[in-house]
Amino acid sequence: MKSLSGFIKVKSHLNTFQTHCFKIYRTNMLTCTLCLSLYLLYFCLPLLKCPSYCLPPLRYMQEKSFDDVDDGFRERALPLEREYQRVSISGEEKCGVPFTDLVDAAKCVVKALFIREKYIKRSMQSFCKTTAHALQELGMKPLDLTDYDDIAETPVDAGISYTLQTYFVTVRQLDLPYPDLTEYIEDMNVMMALIINGPVKSFCYRRLQYLSSKFQMHILLNEMKELAAQKKVPHRDFYNIRKVDTHIHASSCMNQKHLLRFIKRSMKKYPEEIVHIERGRGQTLKEVFESMNLTAFDLSVDTLDMHADRNTFHRFDKFNAKYNPIGESILREIFIKTDNCIEGKYFAHIVKEVMSDLEESKYQNSELRLSIYGRSRDEWEKLAKWALKHRVYSDNVRWLIQVPRLFDVYQTKKTLANFQEMLENIFLPLFEATINPRKHPELHLFLEHVVGFDSVDDESKPEHHIFNLDSPLPENWTEEDNPPYSYYLYYTYANMTVLNHLRRQRGFRMFVLRPHCGEAGPIHHLVSGFMLSENISHGLLLRKAPVLQYLYYLAQIGIAMSPLSNNSLFLSYHRNPLPEYLSRGLMISLSTDDPLQFHFTKVNSFCLTARVHSLTAR
Ligand SMILES: [Zn+2]
Repeated sequence: MKSLSGFIKVKSHLNTFQTHCFKIYRTNMLTCTLCLSLYLLYFCLPLLKCPSYCLPPLRYMQEKSFDDVDDGFRERALPLEREYQRVSISGEEKCGVPFTDLVDAAKCVVKALFIREKYIKRSMQSFCKTTAHALQELGMKPLDLTDYDDIAETPVDAGISYTLQTYFVTVRQLDLPYPDLTEYIEDMNVMMALIINGPVKSFCYRRLQYLSSKFQMHILLNEMKELAAQKKVPHRDFYNIRKVDTHIHASSCMNQKHLLRFIKRSMKKYPEEIVHIERGRGQTLKEVFESMNLTAFDLSVDTLDMHADRNTFHRFDKFNAKYNPIGESILREIFIKTDNCIEGKYFAHIVKEVMSDLEESKYQNSELRLSIYGRSRDEWEKLAKWALKHRVYSDNVRWLIQVPRLFDVYQTKKTLANFQEMLENIFLPLFEATINPRKHPELHLFLEHVVGFDSVDDESKPEHHIFNLDSPLPENWTEEDNPPYSYYLYYTYANMTVLNHLRRQRGFRMFVLRPHCGEAGPIHHLVSGFMLSENISHGLLLRKAPVLQYLYYLAQIGIAMSPLSNNSLFLSYHRNPLPEYLSRGLMISLSTDDPLQFHFTKVNSFCLTARVHSLTAR
């Protein structure tokens, strides 16, 4: 039985997992509904050419849709049709909006999907194959489902030179493709107009309602059968299905008790170790605690005070301050930083303990996020050295690199002169390591375990600038204002695209963009996310934007949701849209975000969410 709630797609890469999707949903039902939705759009296009064309009966569309998808889907779908009760809908009026509106809306939705396909394929990220099939028929062009993994490696010493252009690196001799800024701004404007278009909104809203209703109907009719089928599956329950935490920050990947124990142990084990430099003088761990009037005996989870509580709701600043044990940034530096006086030794130890817990539990995997700030050129080398020196590696863990959007802070401190400098600090070392891996062996090795990039910070911060063609280029961005979200995302995407093409030619691992997006703030963050990124984290605001929500559904964009984290910051647990997204067939994965701030023990978000929303295990 391939049924009920929850499956993981673990793509094998480098003998281990690459990605991730802990999707609590019935795969088969999702596939059918998605094909049907895409098919509805498909049928609207001939209508544009031939106005007298009538919508075919839904059942025919459903059957036809099975013909057009991968064989795998068909094999799964057909036995189900016989096994489960289904309600069929007949009649000509299929979606409750006027016929002309339907045609216009379908046109717009298809246009948006083509835009996403263009950007995702250009950057070599993966685009939903079912959607790609449907678009291919609409666009009358050959389907390009190139598997980029099997590319022959070019000689490591190929002697390629590169030059720096206005905002990204162009590698000479290879003529690598890169995105065009004017085109991007135009596409962005098209998308912005589309998501506020009235008829499109009505159409998408109704389609989403239809999807929810269809799910409810399925539950009403087939719940007992689903439960029975679930019990039939041998050796699989909630605990031993594979889980991949697709959104978790390394600096808070341990729970409070774990960190507390670790700090106490370090105080006993290494009291005389020099861990901090204060005014040019080395301070031992013992001295650091003495300066705070603390002993190991005094320390408790309460004095550690790292738990997000009522006071952090809508206060991202207070939430960030919770990363400091006992409110002291010095302890954060000593225990949860990779670059400090002890070269990140303690942090490496604690991450390795988390890793061995994951290995022990066997079925849990994580994509931990490490920070690259873009303040200096040597950050990557230091990070790679940290990972290699302390052997922070596990088959159950892959790295994601998060870039905090803190240009304004560095600018005020005069660390950086312009935004271009930040981009160079982030991307130039990667180009160098790709072109000349022998010169950068540590970074080269480390990059083989990096999945992609994330963009992080408080999305609810006001943005004073709108990204358009008049916006200064990165080299001219010298204002103290922070560039807007879409600006960060575009330039990360642009550089990543060129880098991916280069890495592909060299036969190295490529990267994806997986930003925090739609947790709070303006809705256009989700538009940038839709156009440029393979997956996103949070996506809470999709609940207020039916067009985008429907597009995220059609394109099956992965959304890593963290209801516990949202509960402490932006949205209370019971108002969380996770169950609604799930019932509509959006591609949801459940993630923890910051166990340190949200978990008391190993009882995790998976269990809690399953209980609260009555989700079943498989
Ligand atoms: Zn996060």
